[in-house]
Amino acid sequence: MTGSIEGLERFDSPGKGRSLRVTRPFKLGELLFSCPAYSYVLSYEERGCYCESCFTRKNGLAKCGKCHKAFYCNVKCQKGDWAMHKLECSAMTAFGENWCPSETVRLVARILAKKKMQKERCLSEKILQIGEMQSHIEDVDNEKREMNEADVARLHRFYSKHLDFPDHKDLLTLFSQVACNGFTIEDDELSHLGTAVYPDVALINHSCLPSVIVTFKGTSAEIRAVKNMKPGDEVLISYIDLLYPTDDRNNRLRESYYFTCDCQECKSKSRDKTKLKVRKQRDPIEPEIISNMVRYARKAIREFRASKHIKPPSELLEMCEQSLEEMGAVFDDSNVYMLHMMYQAMGVCLYMEDPEGAIRYGEKILKPYKQLYPPYSLNVSSMYLKLGRLYMGWEKHSMGISALKKAMAIMEVAHGKDHYYVTELRNEMTQK
Ligand SMILES: [Zn+2]
Ligand SMILES: [Zn+2]
Ligand SMILES: [Zn+2]
Repeated sequence: MTGSIEGLERFDSPGKGRSLRVTRPFKLGELLFSCPAYSYVLSYEERGCYCESCFTRKNGLAKCGKCHKAFYCNVKCQKGDWAMHKLECSAMTAFGENWCPSETVRLVARILAKKKMQKERCLSEKILQIGEMQSHIEDVDNEKREMNEADVARLHRFYSKHLDFPDHKDLLTLFSQVACNGFTIEDDELSHLGTAVYPDVALINHSCLPSVIVTFKGTSAEIRAVKNMKPGDEVLISYIDLLYPTDDRNNRLRESYYFTCDCQECKSKSRDKTKLKVRKQRDPIEPEIISNMVRYARKAIREFRASKHIKPPSELLEMCEQSLEEMGAVFDDSNVYMLHMMYQAMGVCLYMEDPEGAIRYGEKILKPYKQLYPPYSLNVSSMYLKLGRLYMGWEKHSMGISALKKAMAIMEVAHGKDHYYVTELRNEMTQK
């Protein structure tokens, strides 16, 4: 760790390696620690809405006079970010429309720049930490290797002016470290804002029954207890979306993080049946029909994901509706595959500025979400927020307030009572 953090210690957990546990009690909602990003990058899509340097969202940000593409609160933020922004400022102008590094490439470039700066200042400690992050380079399959190779090529193409690159193998290791340890910074409605690495947070192991939750304040990560913890309890976060049944969760963990979870929920699979609920019918549905439909659902999810940034919204909505109809013959409305597609459909409706459609899907999603997710889940609070804000804009004031209050109850624990998202929400509720 960056130093020792009061109330926490590292330990070696059998089978999991380095781990983190508490040495004193922590109450529900209490902050365990906060951690500045070692390195971070704002998404290209969010430029102009957020300050590149501190991730403050506001109108009237000032733009970089050279590239006109980066935006800042003020001169102080701009100066603070220059060591990172200069990696891209002139290159973006020079390459014009051909400038297209992925967000991972942009983050890796920043990590390399930071390492170089620190070497010059003889601060070896942080470099060590990045070196300590797991890479799993030996587990990377061919498809991922090709992607990483393409990223390395883009890194050389767009960033060679400002960076000295380590050898090819070390670069591949760095890319796979970032893939395993990078965090997506999201807003209160879980929209993607950027990507960052937090060496201290990377120490925290996964569980499908997490004891803490990670939220973001600006570019810093904050870790809060989502249950009462006693001395010796391990600090555990969830790396994945916990909506899905055990097999799906572990496929995802193996694919992205190269391990299988052995938490109590993965052993007992106690919630799988509820998550895969089938329609009530007079004659029970044959197991084979159910397993075929699960296969269909997984395929539909993959196909939607692949089409998301390619097809027009009307076609995407049709894909959702079609698969919902197909699955609806076998699955209950609260089945997680149904919920997945309804969630996507709601997103498309929001994008198409169709509040009625979004509300219709949102209302169907909410109740099963509450049952299937853990008690303090950002997936649930963000759904209450979206729905609450839709109601407020749709002249359904009391329904809006009631949904926003429920979002607030979760966010006060997950984000802390003094987080600006909570303050903003409080203002939103009193204003309208
Ligand atoms: Zn700023
Ligand atoms: Zn610039
Ligand atoms: Zn598990």
